[in-house]
Amino acid sequence: SYDELRKCTNNFSESNEIGSGGYGKVYRGMISSGKLVAIKKAQLGSMQGGLEFKTEIELLSRVHHKNLVGLVGFCFEQGEQLLVYEFMMNGTLRENLTGRNGTHLDWKRRIRIALGSARGLAYLHELAHPPIIHRDVKSTNILLDENLTAKVADFGLSKLVSETSEHVSTQVKGTLGYLDPEYYMTQQLTEKSDVYSFGVVMLELITAKQPIEKGKYIVREIRTAMDKSDESHYGLKEMIDPAIRNTPNLVGFSRFVELAMQCVEESASDRPTMNEVVKTLESILHNDG
Ligand code: ADP
Repeated sequence: SYDELRKCTNNFSESNEIGSGGYGKVYRGMISSGKLVAIKKAQLGSMQGGLEFKTEIELLSRVHHKNLVGLVGFCFEQGEQLLVYEFMMNGTLRENLTGRNGTHLDWKRRIRIALGSARGLAYLHELAHPPIIHRDVKSTNILLDENLTAKVADFGLSKLVSETSEHVSTQVKGTLGYLDPEYYMTQQLTEKSDVYSFGVVMLELITAKQPIEKGKYIVREIRTAMDKSDESHYGLKEMIDPAIRNTPNLVGFSRFVELAMQCVEESASDRPTMNEVVKTLESILHNDG
């Protein structure tokens, strides 16, 4: 409620900074119910506080799904824009992949994380009203809760940023390494751009590598390795994250790799929909098909 949020804005300390990103700084706080929250102090451009902007945020706060980081509320006061999200205890997928968070994500857990994120995105594409294209799917926008359940964060925000900026038609939003090449060329945004970015995240789950390392794109590296090889693991053995490389049986590994590579097809029409991705991941997890 409004009162609650008013309190939260008074009650969080800037010393509780937990990160900063494209839209500003993020702090840990608590609302009066005792619920932990992440408070994002946003810098969202010229439309700030405008009616259109508020309508859009209100819309986002009504999107609820188990695999989406819920927007608990927001408040705009005295020139500040605060977005209040449920707090994700285990941080970003990226920091869990680098082991910085002390967690070990085993292979099955990684399939579950892919499936959870895919369900969140499929919901945005197919069931949210109006449909939402995320536009910035990446491993730092996938957060893990206390049970290591994956939740997609920051949906809807990229749209606000681009539509409130001056150069709508000439601006491509997204993060290098995750950016759909077709969208980059044509500037025609569709759900399939999220599918591409999601495919890159799947490759991160396999390799733990960043999408671009030492100037090399993970997508190209893997494509090359696969083209050269006819052995098991598609010749990717050396590229698999050391944390899971020696797992005796990576159940569903080849199907997982195939799915990831379909997601990062150059041509959007060759990529599956997020719903199809969900179905395939479910089948991989249950080891059938
Ligand atoms: P970016 O713009 O790079 O996506 P964000 O501004 O969304 O970054 O978030 C910055 C950092 O704050 C994240 O990397 C994460 O560590 C932390 N963070 C963001 N949202 C939450 C949340 N809901 N719960 C816990 N930590 C969060």
